[in-house]
Amino acid sequence: MFIVDKIRADFPILNREVHGKKLVYFDNGATSQTPQIVIDAIVDYYSNYNANIHRGVHTLSQEATDKYEEARLKVQQHFNAKHSYEIILTAGTTHSINVVASGFSAILKAGDQVIVSSLEHHSNIVPWQMLCEKTGAILKVIPMNEDGSLRMDIYHELLNANTKLVFCNHVSNALGIINPIKEIIHAAHKFGAYVLIDGAQAVPHIKPDVQGLDADFYVASAHKMCGPTGVGVLYGKEELLKLLPPYQGGGEMIETVTFEKTTYAGLPHKFEAGTPNICGGIAFGAAIDYLNSIGFDNIAKQENELLAYGTQELEKIEGLKIYGTSDKVAVISFNLEGIHPYDVGSILDKLGVAVRTGHHCAQPIMNFYGIPGTVRASFAFYNTKQEIDVLVASVKRAKMMLS
Ligand SMILES: *Cc1c(COP(=O)(O)O)cnc(C)c1O
Repeated sequence: MFIVDKIRADFPILNREVHGKKLVYFDNGATSQTPQIVIDAIVDYYSNYNANIHRGVHTLSQEATDKYEEARLKVQQHFNAKHSYEIILTAGTTHSINVVASGFSAILKAGDQVIVSSLEHHSNIVPWQMLCEKTGAILKVIPMNEDGSLRMDIYHELLNANTKLVFCNHVSNALGIINPIKEIIHAAHKFGAYVLIDGAQAVPHIKPDVQGLDADFYVASAHKMCGPTGVGVLYGKEELLKLLPPYQGGGEMIETVTFEKTTYAGLPHKFEAGTPNICGGIAFGAAIDYLNSIGFDNIAKQENELLAYGTQELEKIEGLKIYGTSDKVAVISFNLEGIHPYDVGSILDKLGVAVRTGHHCAQPIMNFYGIPGTVRASFAFYNTKQEIDVLVASVKRAKMMLS
């Protein structure tokens, strides 16, 4: 049974105070908090079997290698990849996207077309712009509607025989909108184009199914799903990972090296040059286990209640506007009329409430609405209705002080 107080006891940080007030952490979209079991996995690694992997014959190295590869299997299962070698452990979403973008710079030609959605994080825009500059490929954008949903009619018109790649996030980080990625993937495949899904903002809320979606690439970061920073995943279909050249040269990614010629290691090692974030990978596995022990149905139920309650209560505040009202996860992006989001965020912080303010690395969305940014409250399953009451009271207070 899901009892939020019991869950909260798993997260030591939730007990701390900020400016003398009990912390209300509503910046889960930027990074999630870490349960004790994941902290324990990190301590256990450095206390008991810290060693480099895949190289040593000694016991510690073998233990570390086994745990690291076990973590890869956990990621494979969680994302429902067909093979464990289709799971590349990276430094995070940004790194994963750059591996793919850099790989396609050897494949795309001038005049090829790539399509990106207007809801993207800068991480899923800039690498493709760089790719287009390098190759002469053309970047097209799927526009958005006022409610934060994508103009799917225009997406279908943009697709043609020149379309080679499509990039879209599963869930928008700035607004929390859930995008129709199954339709996006299916439509792209009809034209032979590959699709990369940025799942960074979806994975805290939704168990991804890369085979069910038929995604060509799916990327995410551990730190938004109760894991540590500096580790993430690049899922790619086997044939595509074989097609792409390696991203970095170094140790671990080679089979043989002579000065005449180097042959590359097979998957996944071809994309894992150098000593990886061993501890981070193992802790990522622990985070996945933790989330599954809570259960994604329970997570969705709790978060949807928070979203409904938070929306209802915030909407009662006069002059408060919520951006992105289409189908979404537990994220409320809003502004108070005539008040800069930064000022609201600063007062909320003084009252112990952590939110994100600004453009959320998604400036095109802010340009669409003609605003400098928003205040974003992003909820997790360990948040409570009482915390939302604190948020609402704090927003009211900020409004009083600033208007
Ligand atoms: C957070 C986020 C990223 C970037 O993730 P990093 O962990 O900083 O690499 C990319 N896309 C979306 C949708 C995000 O929410």
